[in-house]
Amino acid sequence: MTQTVRAAVLRAFGSPLEIEEIELSDPGPGELLVEIEAAGVCHSDLHYLRGDLRCPLPVVPGHEGAGRVLQLGPGATGDIAVGDRVALLWRPNCGRCAQCISGRPIMCEFGPVQARSGGLLDGTTRMSSGGGPVHHLLGVSCFAERVVVPERSVVFVPKDIPAEVAAIAGCAVITGVGAVRNVIGSCIGDPVVVMGAGGVGLAALMGARLAGASPIIAVDIDRSKLALAERLGATHTVDARDGDAVEQVLSLVAGGVRWVIEAIGRPETLTSAVAMLAPGGTVVAVGLGRAGQSFEVPINELVQRQKRIVGSLYGSSIPQLDLPRIFDLYRSGALPLGELIGESYPLDRINDSFDALQGDAVGRSIVYPGR
Ligand SMILES: [Zn+2]
Ligand SMILES: [Zn+2]
Repeated sequence: MTQTVRAAVLRAFGSPLEIEEIELSDPGPGELLVEIEAAGVCHSDLHYLRGDLRCPLPVVPGHEGAGRVLQLGPGATGDIAVGDRVALLWRPNCGRCAQCISGRPIMCEFGPVQARSGGLLDGTTRMSSGGGPVHHLLGVSCFAERVVVPERSVVFVPKDIPAEVAAIAGCAVITGVGAVRNVIGSCIGDPVVVMGAGGVGLAALMGARLAGASPIIAVDIDRSKLALAERLGATHTVDARDGDAVEQVLSLVAGGVRWVIEAIGRPETLTSAVAMLAPGGTVVAVGLGRAGQSFEVPINELVQRQKRIVGSLYGSSIPQLDLPRIFDLYRSGALPLGELIGESYPLDRINDSFDALQGDAVGRSIVYPGR
C-alpha cells in the first residue's frame, strides 16, 4: 500500500526545494510511519541543499524532526506504540554492530549505509515519484507531512514536551549539550569559548553554563545572535567583525582558554579556535565543513603547548540516555530550550526559512509540514 504525502523535494544541488505530492509506502519490518509535528531548519540541511555535502537525488531533506507514530511495520518490538510521540534521529542505533555494543551508537555502522544509499537500514527507499525513487536524508526526511523511519532511529517523547523542542532536541540540542556533557565533562570554573551562536552553539553554551564553566565567551559576527547568547548565559560576547577574534578572547582571558567548542566548521575559525587555547587546552569541533575541507594547525604550537583537537558528532551521545535527560532539564527550567526557537514556517515557505538561515535568522527556525 502507498499513500500520497506533501514533501519538500531537492532535485538538483543549488536549486530551491520543490513542494510536491510524492508516494510513501507502508512501513516495512522494524519501521514506523510517523506524522511530522515540527522540523528544525539546520545548517547541515543547507550543506546538502548547496551540494557542499552530497547525497543521492532526488531527496527529501530535513533531519531534525519530531512527530506522532501512526502505524507500526510488521514485527515491531513493542517499545514504541501507535500514538506515541517520538524524536527522530539521523543516526540509527542497530544495537548489534561493534560501535553500538561499545556504547558509541552515533558511530553505528548503519549510519553511513543510510547516508550513502539515501535509503533506510536496508539501503532501499520508501518514497517515490512518477515511478522513480525519492531518497531519504539520513533516514529522517522530515520536511514531509509523514515519513517512514527505522524503529531504531527514534526516541520516545513525553506528552508535555512541545513538538518544536522535541525536534531541535534530536539534533542541535543533543549535539551542543552533548559536546559539553560527553566530551568535556567537568569544567567547573574553566573558561569556555563557544564559536558560532546558531542552534548548536547556543545549546553548547547552555550546556557549559549548566556545567559551571566560567567565563563563557560567545563568538559570532551577528549582534542579535550574540545578544541571545548573553541572555542564555554567555558572560562575555566577542563580535569577530570588531577585530581579530583570537586577540579579543586573549584580552578577556590572558593566556588562553581551556576549552573551545567550534560550531561553525570553517577552516579559518578552526585555526582561530586552536590559537585561543591555553597550553593543554582542547578544541571540540562540532561544526561540519564542506566535504574534503581541511584547516591549518601550527605543528609546534600543537606539540609544545600540548593542545588537543577532538571531533564530536551528534554530541558523542547515547540518544536513548541523553534525550530523556535533556527533556528533564527542559522541564525543570535548567535548559530553557524554548529560547532557541525562532520563526515558524509552513511547508510552502520552506525556501524562505533557508534564506533566513543564511541571513540574520536568530534561533532555530521551525517548519510545520502539516500547515
Ligand atoms: Zn542538524
Ligand atoms: Zn549499530
